[in-house]
Amino acid sequence: MAGVQGAAAPGFGKGRGWGSQRPETASPTPRARANLKRMSTAFAPRAIDPDALKQLRDTDDAGRPCVPYIDPEGGDPLRCCLRAVRAGERIALVSYAPLRRWAAETGAEPGAYDEQGPVFIHADPCEGPEPAATREGYPHVKAGSLRTFRRYSAEGRIVGGRFLEIPEDTTAGFDEAFTEAFADPQVALVHVRAVEYGCFHFEVRRPR
Ligand SMILES: [Zn+2]
Repeated sequence: MAGVQGAAAPGFGKGRGWGSQRPETASPTPRARANLKRMSTAFAPRAIDPDALKQLRDTDDAGRPCVPYIDPEGGDPLRCCLRAVRAGERIALVSYAPLRRWAAETGAEPGAYDEQGPVFIHADPCEGPEPAATREGYPHVKAGSLRTFRRYSAEGRIVGGRFLEIPEDTTAGFDEAFTEAFADPQVALVHVRAVEYGCFHFEVRRPR
């Protein structure tokens, strides 16, 4: 099993690049604790949808078979449930093409802007993210971690982006970055990625 895990997760040591080596609620400062009370977010983070997950659990977007393994430690960000892996869960690291998947729904043609990268998912059918009503802030946030907000047009082309060092008020920081992105009428969706590894975290679409 250890060999499988090693093969499945090259270069993705715990927390490196993911900004989540500690549980997201570990040792909050008094100010961060106060911020946790602010539950609602101005924009809706989207997990990988169930149909796509079903396919990824067979063959991923790079054409590779899914290789499940038990994660003894946990901590990495799950793109299916938008929370950290819990120790002992059965997961897989698969290649996912978020823009291609979105374009298949909308009819956009991203062409050369299409790309794919590694994401962690549960290896078996799972519950999905917590409902917005009870969710606390944005997923995979930790003050001090670095993120990019990459903006795409309705045609699937990159139309700019920005860098964010997550502030202590994590929800306010993300809200502000998305508000700024959607102030540009060209922007149809935003991908949030970790800076160091470029790993895709989640997507937000223009509110209707
Ligand atoms: Zn899941």
